[in-house]
Amino acid sequence: MNRSFALAICAPSGTGKTTVACALVEASDDFVFSVSATTRPIRPGEGEGVDYRFVGRDEFDAMIRNGELLEWAEVHGELYGTPRANLEEAEHQGRLLILDIDVQGARQVVEALSDAVTVFLLPPSFDALMERLRQRGSEDEARLRRRLETAKNELKCIDEFQYVVINDRLEDAVEQIRAIVGAERQRLSRRSAEIAQLRRQLQEGLERESP
Ligand code: ADP
Ligand code: 5GP
Repeated sequence: MNRSFALAICAPSGTGKTTVACALVEASDDFVFSVSATTRPIRPGEGEGVDYRFVGRDEFDAMIRNGELLEWAEVHGELYGTPRANLEEAEHQGRLLILDIDVQGARQVVEALSDAVTVFLLPPSFDALMERLRQRGSEDEARLRRRLETAKNELKCIDEFQYVVINDRLEDAVEQIRAIVGAERQRLSRRSAEIAQLRRQLQEGLERESP
């Protein structure tokens, strides 16, 4: 069974991280989407417990107090956080946990989990970003401006990330992230027990056969 780890995907709002994360999860049973808790209002088409756990401020505060969140942050004036239980469940199932979180959250994840992988997703151009944000149509003009303001700061954090993927054609971006996961799975540090056993076996065989 593949060992579980966390893959955090960050991007300026509208780049397509939710779309990419969903495509990854749909394409493979090995991946599971981390459903965050948030105080932001539900959007048309979103499902409770599917896209987010939509909670009130009091409930979110209680989750913080009770240590239920692996990380949390205020983004665009709302609170968002990753329940620890998501990670525990993914570990139990041996699946890779995909986190669609902001840069403050990614920082906390890397601090908490030394083997986490971080990917920064970029739109192919500014025009494409604006078109995607407008086409999604989920924000009024004031909220959209606020997201663009946040995007300016998020772009400054790109150097903190391990990988960068440009989400031009969706299929290509998904393929590139799958390739990153494939390579990360071959890291010696993730396979130390398995490789130690194979080395021992090879060593024994070589010693038996050597003159
Ligand atoms: P984010 O989660 O980064 O805020 P979304 O996943 O909600 O962004 O995507 C924003 C909009 O862009 C959505 O309407 C989505 O369908 C669209 N989109 C995402 N990826 C692509 C892509 N590669 N090409 C064209 N449109 C895309
Ligand atoms: P949206 O409201 O568009 O769904 O998300 C707004 C921002 O919050 C996005 O950058 C998204 O990645 C981020 N976000 C969603 N869930 C979490 C979370 O659990 N933790 C953190 N830190 N950010 C999150």
